[in-house]
Amino acid sequence: MSLSQTQPQPQPQDVFPWELGIYDAHCHPTDTMASVAQIPSMKATTLTIMATRAQDQELVAETAQSLNITGESTRSPRVLPSFGWHPWFSHQIINDTTTPTATTSTPQSKENHYINVLTPSPASDLDFISQLPSPKLLSALLNETRERLRQFPSSLVGEVGLDKAFRLPGVWTAEEISSRDEDLTPGSREGRKLSPYKVKMDHQRAVLKAQLQLAGEMQRPVSVHSVQAHGVVFDLFKELWNGHEKVFLSRRQKEKLKDAEGALSDDENDDEDEQRGPSKTSEMKQPLPFPPRICMHSYSGPVEPIRQFLHPSNPSDVYFSFSAVINFSGAPAKKISDVIKALPDDRILIESDLHIAGTPMDDLLEDVARQICQLRGWDLRAGVKQLADNWNRFVYG
Ligand SMILES: [Zn+2]
Repeated sequence: MSLSQTQPQPQPQDVFPWELGIYDAHCHPTDTMASVAQIPSMKATTLTIMATRAQDQELVAETAQSLNITGESTRSPRVLPSFGWHPWFSHQIINDTTTPTATTSTPQSKENHYINVLTPSPASDLDFISQLPSPKLLSALLNETRERLRQFPSSLVGEVGLDKAFRLPGVWTAEEISSRDEDLTPGSREGRKLSPYKVKMDHQRAVLKAQLQLAGEMQRPVSVHSVQAHGVVFDLFKELWNGHEKVFLSRRQKEKLKDAEGALSDDENDDEDEQRGPSKTSEMKQPLPFPPRICMHSYSGPVEPIRQFLHPSNPSDVYFSFSAVINFSGAPAKKISDVIKALPDDRILIESDLHIAGTPMDDLLEDVARQICQLRGWDLRAGVKQLADNWNRFVYG
């Protein structure tokens, strides 16, 4: 049933139905630890909190541990933790899965690593390299993330992804240091000027691929960041899906099969091809090389790639989440409305993507939920219920 055909027009003056459950599919309150104390008094039901880098993995775990009632198996915890390494920090990882002898122990190996993974080469900019952290082995990152995923059985993998646009922040200037915001968790850009250096795509891809494979091994959903990289992201999914596609039979093959089976039924009306793949439930917890469900967070791409991401033969279910800040304030209104209108009802999620918890986060969630309901022509209550169902299906299957 399509909500858009059966429900009356939304009335924006409606009281917002928080009681139906509002789920933030992607946010970063641990970037402002002082704000975490606000979470219990927020109107949103559950925050899916992303880790991104060395400084926040433990903070995300601690936040989940301190705010969730331990031992309670609820499907609506206050916080759902998500563990992963963001592409903006992917240069800090040494890919020892292809270079098993890689080491982080000497200054020379640190320099060589950053010269290898950054473009343009920072070989003549040793000042820049010296302020970068000692790199970490990919195998160690994967082991730590696996442990955290085990510790939190409903946790996700994220934030991971690819970003063709970003450049690394430059060396801290004296002025930047003096105006630094003490409330922010360290490790992010924090208002610094950008350097010319980017992380090579093949390196970002290797770090993403390993984390997607870990999500597959643990059968966890994933939150994916993709900026100007939807083609490369999709190609990587395809590579991981290879050999696991859901199988469809052509009409001719179906007829042959029927003949062989004695033509027991004569159901010829459907143009849809029949799925012959293994049933979803039997596959559910088996380790596979790809995640069961994927959220393209703050999806900023055009309409066309959506068809590929949603192709029925894909063995991962792909969702798209939207934020008021990224999708509704900067992007052209036409582009985002075309994308939201093109999606099926059951693949849309909402997120704040905000670095601070509390009222501003609630306000952004209400804002994006209302905008999506309006664009889809959903009645506010029915739309909010749909978004809640979508988050639950994305997280729990
Ligand atoms: Zn994010």
